[in-house]
Amino acid sequence: MDSFWNSYTANIAYSISQLCIAIIMGGMYFLAPTERCTRYWALSGLISVFGSTLTAFSISKFGHLPLITGSTLMIAAMTAKWWGTQAFFGKRPAYVGWYLVLGFFIGYSLIVLLQLAVGIRTLFLSLMLALLTFLNVVEVVLARGVRLSFANSLVIIAYTLAAADFILRGILAISGGIDLTPQSHDPINVFGLYLIPMWCNLLGSLGLLLMYFESIIHEKEHLATHDELTKIYNRRALVNLGRREIDLAHRYQRPISIFMLDLDHFKLINDTYGHDAGDKVLRSVALTLSNTCRNTDIIGRYGGEELCIICPHTTKDEATALGERLLEAMRNLHHQHCDNRQVTCSLGLYTWNPNTDLAASWEAMLHHADTALYAAKAAGRNCMLQYSIEADNQ
Ligand code: GH3
Ligand code: MG
Ligand code: MG
Repeated sequence: MDSFWNSYTANIAYSISQLCIAIIMGGMYFLAPTERCTRYWALSGLISVFGSTLTAFSISKFGHLPLITGSTLMIAAMTAKWWGTQAFFGKRPAYVGWYLVLGFFIGYSLIVLLQLAVGIRTLFLSLMLALLTFLNVVEVVLARGVRLSFANSLVIIAYTLAAADFILRGILAISGGIDLTPQSHDPINVFGLYLIPMWCNLLGSLGLLLMYFESIIHEKEHLATHDELTKIYNRRALVNLGRREIDLAHRYQRPISIFMLDLDHFKLINDTYGHDAGDKVLRSVALTLSNTCRNTDIIGRYGGEELCIICPHTTKDEATALGERLLEAMRNLHHQHCDNRQVTCSLGLYTWNPNTDLAASWEAMLHHADTALYAAKAAGRNCMLQYSIEADNQ
C-alpha cells in the first residue's frame, strides 16, 4: 500500500495539473491582455507549481528554507487566484492580500524556526489555504447581478470542498496520530494535501474559465441585441421580439399595444447644444422611459430619435394610462447639459384587440402606430394619439 500512495508522485501530479492551468490561463491572457483576471489566474498556477515542488524537499536534507518558501508560495498562489476572481468581477485586487502573504511568511517561519509542534505548522498553513480558497466562493456569491449558472456553481462547489478539505486536514494535524508533513506517504495525507486539492483546483479553475467564457458570450449577445448609445434594444432585436409577441398575442387571443415615440424638435437640441449633449439627452430619455415602463414591456430604438415600445397583454385603456405617464415623465425630465431644458415627445399608439380586430402583422401594427405618431406631431406635439382608420385614410 505504501508504494501505491506516494506523496512525491502525488506532488508531481499536483504540479503538472497546476502547470496545465497556468498554460491555459496564460494562453487566454495573451489572447486578451487587457483582461486582468486571466493574468492572475495564470500566475496563480505558475507560483503553485514552484510552491508545491519546494515543499517536497525534506527538512533533514535541505534545511527549512524550501519548506518555508514553498508554503509561502502556495499562499501567494491562492492569493493571486483570489485577486483574479476579484478582477473578473471588476474589482481592484484587495491590498490585504499582500499582508496575508507577508503575515503568513513571518508566522510560518517563526513556527518552523522555533520548532513548535508539526501539527501547529500544518494547522496554520491549512487554515490560511482554506481561507484564501473560500474567498473565491465569497466573491462569486456576493457578486452583484450574478445568477447561478453551471460555471459559477462549479466554482462554488469545488472551492468549498477544497476549503473543507484544508480545514479537516488542519484538525487532523492538531489532533495528532497521523503524519501530515508534505513528505508523508500516509493515504490521508496524499489525498488531503495533494489529490483532493488537485481535483478541486482543476474543477474550480475550469469553472472560472467557463465563467470567463460565459461573460464573453453574454457580452457578445448583448452587443448584438442592444443599442450602444441608449442601452435599450436595437432595431433588429426589437423587430424579432415584436414579431414573437404578436404571434403570442394572436395565439392566445390577448391584446397587445405598440407605441411609436419621437422626440420633439430634437434637431434644435443638437443645433443649439451640440451632438454630444444630444446623445446625453437620448441616453437619459431611454433610461427614464425604461424606468416608467413595466419589466415585461419591450423598449427599443427604432432609429435616430425614434423609439418603439411593445406592451404585451395590454389593453387600449391600460396603454393610454401608460402613454400619459410616459409623456409626464418626459415633461418632468430636465436636461442638465442643455440649460435644464425639457425635451418632450410625441406618441402614436396602436392597440390590437382580439375581440374586434382581425389578425395583423408586425409591419401593419407598426405602420398604424407610426400613422398615429404623425397625427400627434400634426396635432402640435407633446401629446399622444391613438390610431384610427379615419386618420389613416386622410
Ligand atoms: P420633430 O418634432 O418633427 O420630430 O422634429 P425633430 O427636430 O426632432 O426631427 P428631425 O427628424 O428633423 O430631426 C431629428 C434629429 O435627431 C436630427 C438628428 O441629427 C438627430 N439624431 C438622430 N440620431 C441621433 C443620435 O444618435 N444622436 C444625436 N445627438 N442626435 C441624433
Ligand atoms: Mg423628432
Ligand atoms: Mg424623427
